[in-house]
Amino acid sequence: MNNYTNQNIQCPNCHHSIDMVIDQKQSNKKIYDDCPSCHRAIEFSMEVNPNTRKVHLSFNNDEDGLF
Ligand SMILES: [Zn+2]
Repeated sequence: MNNYTNQNIQCPNCHHSIDMVIDQKQSNKKIYDDCPSCHRAIEFSMEVNPNTRKVHLSFNNDEDGLF
């Protein structure tokens, strides 16, 4: 069974789209990556729906108040 899925995420800082390969076994873990465009760290958490196996990503960019 293939537990890897391709996700296209958008950088919450510069909205650059990034292709990521995600291991679905990492469900409910926090994932850190660097945006290749703005080089800022992106932190997000992943939830996998066990029924549909759809991956939901939510960003945790509460480090600075940009707004
Ligand atoms: Zn970016």
